[in-house]
Amino acid sequence: MSFPLLLRPQLPAYTCRSCLLRLSRPPRRPISSKTAKEAKASTALPSTPARTRFAPSPTGYLHLGSLRTALFNYLLAKRTGGQFLLRIEDTDRKRTVHDAEQRLFDDLRWAELQWDEGPEVGGPYGPYRQSERSAIYKTHAQQLLESGHAYRCFCSAERLNVLAEHKHKLGLATDYDRTCASIPKDESDDRAHNGESHTIRLKVPDRYPTYTDLIYGTFKPLKKRGHVTESSYEDPILLKSDGLPTYHLANVVDDHLMKITHVIRGSEWMPSTPKHIAMYSAFGWSPPEFAHVGLLVDENGNKLSKRNFDTDITAFKEMEIFPETLTNFAALLGWSHKEQADVMDLQTLINNFSLKFTKGNTTVTFGKLHFLQRKHAALRAQAGGEKLQDMVHNVVRLLVAPDSPYQNWKKVINTPWPDDYVSKIIRVDADNYTNANEFLYRNSFFFEPLRPYHEAPPMTTSSDIPMRAQMLAEVDDKGWTRENLMQKVRDIIDGRTEGKDGSKDVYHYLRKTLTGQEKGMRLYDVMLILGRRETLARLGLEK
Ligand code: GLU
Repeated sequence: MSFPLLLRPQLPAYTCRSCLLRLSRPPRRPISSKTAKEAKASTALPSTPARTRFAPSPTGYLHLGSLRTALFNYLLAKRTGGQFLLRIEDTDRKRTVHDAEQRLFDDLRWAELQWDEGPEVGGPYGPYRQSERSAIYKTHAQQLLESGHAYRCFCSAERLNVLAEHKHKLGLATDYDRTCASIPKDESDDRAHNGESHTIRLKVPDRYPTYTDLIYGTFKPLKKRGHVTESSYEDPILLKSDGLPTYHLANVVDDHLMKITHVIRGSEWMPSTPKHIAMYSAFGWSPPEFAHVGLLVDENGNKLSKRNFDTDITAFKEMEIFPETLTNFAALLGWSHKEQADVMDLQTLINNFSLKFTKGNTTVTFGKLHFLQRKHAALRAQAGGEKLQDMVHNVVRLLVAPDSPYQNWKKVINTPWPDDYVSKIIRVDADNYTNANEFLYRNSFFFEPLRPYHEAPPMTTSSDIPMRAQMLAEVDDKGWTRENLMQKVRDIIDGRTEGKDGSKDVYHYLRKTLTGQEKGMRLYDVMLILGRRETLARLGLEK
């Protein structure tokens, strides 16, 4: 019984070590020195609206690296008044993860990267799932066969594996030897007509056409590699034996038909680009502009791994990182701007976007993520509205949970509705907000009595401060304002009979008694949020 080539129970596909390394490294060779003019042209924004796309394969979820790719494409489209497309590259059915597509949609929308054309949205160049476009790819593969830029390959998987292993042992590139390229057209047509299993391969040119990467500059064509006895050709498979396209064919055909003008993608795709350019030229099409952004690496230069946040976006959601924090963080990974501050929401990123990408890999340091989170928390607090409410809800949800460590909050707040109270704390302390749990913990003195109310606060017997602090009780509920409290504290300080630097001791006493801490937010904010009743109670004055 014979199986079609790529559907057979596969021998493990053979990839030599150097090829694997080549795939994972940033490009080494093809960068030539750019002239000043070229360098300038490559970072300038296009003068017409850009059509960009994010083309994920649903073989996994959205990660930091892929979010960044989507984001750069989104920003370029929005900056130039163009369109951002989402295309699902689901040609590898075996590796498809069943819920990956839905999760991609959810995560992109969570990050507010809404696509203008694509699944669930439609558009003039759909369908936007490659699995629904098989007929288009077949026609195009056929076109290349007819024009002599492609040929049918009838080699079995076994033969290809033996060939690759043999070449590897000789230290040669493990590419195809072009055996089937010499099969006469009539014979090839007959064999295909009789149902013989085959793939269609691109016949790559002897020299790849030159192209200019927006980041790396001009790629000079490589001289075709070969060997006197062992020829090797990078002829990639375009159509598999099951009639479905490979990434190379589908990607090129779709980018052309969908009128994509700019492709920003990871540098792991760089080795494929010359083949793609060759295909564009075989079809007689002009290719889009390409910008290959470097890999994300950790501080030791290693590819990000699960341990250092190369988890899917869910991990960031679970950490309660705001979408605007994550897009800000991702944007700064390999892109540089002229602004004074790095803190930018999505609209600001759009307004400032340029094609100033950095060459090579980008080191990810997560300290920056937390810094940005605090800054965006402050912006949310300043702006008020829905995004501040989200933070309030998260904190309140933890506070009122049955297993909350703050079981006595009602005694302190004196109302069953803590939203306003929490909102006030967030507005004052947003600069330190990272997530609800940490925030509650940091501000726990606002949610639990520091000591039983009938217990007097700790006193320094030699000091008259606790006694003088009673003056605060003279401020009534209505007059419990910042100005009045400041005046009263001044009175407490001024009237002191002992000590030279009275203010320091008074502030210290009040802070320690009201918060249990040595330092923290401004004392008047603490008194205003706690309110008269709780402030006086903590000072042992009323309640
Ligand atoms: N489907 C490819 C991926 O998942 C797309 C690569 C490209 O942008 O051309 O990375």
